[in-house]
Amino acid sequence: RAKYSGKNKYVLFESQMSIKLKEKIELENILRKAIDGDGFMLHYQPIVDVKDGRIVSFEALTRMKNKNISPAKFIPLAEETNLIVVIGKWVIKKVAEQLNYWKSKGIEVRPIAINISPKQIKDEGFIYYIQDTLDEYNIEPRLLEIEITESIMVENKEEILKILQKLKEIGLTIALDDFGTGYSSLNYLTYIPVDKIKLDKSLSDKFLELDNLSVMSSIIMLAHSLNLKVTAEGIETESQYQKLKNIGCDFVQGYFFSMPLPHEEAERKLLD
Ligand code: C2E
Ligand code: MG
Ligand code: MG
Ligand code: MG
Repeated sequence: RAKYSGKNKYVLFESQMSIKLKEKIELENILRKAIDGDGFMLHYQPIVDVKDGRIVSFEALTRMKNKNISPAKFIPLAEETNLIVVIGKWVIKKVAEQLNYWKSKGIEVRPIAINISPKQIKDEGFIYYIQDTLDEYNIEPRLLEIEITESIMVENKEEILKILQKLKEIGLTIALDDFGTGYSSLNYLTYIPVDKIKLDKSLSDKFLELDNLSVMSSIIMLAHSLNLKVTAEGIETESQYQKLKNIGCDFVQGYFFSMPLPHEEAERKLLD
């Protein structure tokens, strides 16, 4: 490819290349620069106990510093380009560092959940990296939660199950994220070794607004019968919260309680 070999060729190339592809290449460059140049940060969104509104844990969500690019945009590309493996390692380290820092200040910490992509979990050394990082920062494994989605089970099922089992043996908590968006959710629940499910925002949007609570309440009952805890994501209103309380949901997360917060603000919430 001769895209930079001359001005005319470059212009020609640019006019022929689809805008989408060009955007992708630009975004990939931005990601690579962010990886080399400390360009990411984490925001922490509180997850609260339905019963008393107390913070039980946080979800760490990756943000780009000084750039308004949503994870919905850069995470899929990071997955496609395998950059998610490096970014994911940075997330694990950052979370361990944060927990260690809070502990060193005498703050009563809560577990932090991180999102793990299929590529990342399959990366050789993933489990060792987690173990080493927890050791290095002196973090109890119960303080780290892993969020996976069903898409993790598409390939190499047996291998993935072994990795998940190992993570549980180490003492991590595993949550099935975006529950309700896939096809075979109920089937997976019977054999993936998860501790909780996170109901996708789209479920709450559909089934809490209509006052048709039987769908949500059935899922919660089913989860409880399998000894799983349930978190509802994307809760934005008091009315949604009250309904979830009435049907026995365990935890809630959403703008109604708090946006994802920079670490200083998350710390203030912990001290409240
Ligand atoms: P997710 O894991 O399902 O995270 C929840 C998303 O919902 C977050 O979006 C959060 O900001 C948003 N959210 C929370 N409460 C509300 C609400 O009340 N209303 C609305 N409209 N949205 C709410 P975010 O941070 O943009 O992340 C999007 C997705 O990107 C995440 O979905 C996750 O799948 C992925 N992601 C984010 N950070 C990472 C990461 O470090 N690694 C990986 N592999 N994926 C990540
Ligand atoms: Mg998540
Ligand atoms: Mg989700
Ligand atoms: Mg998601």
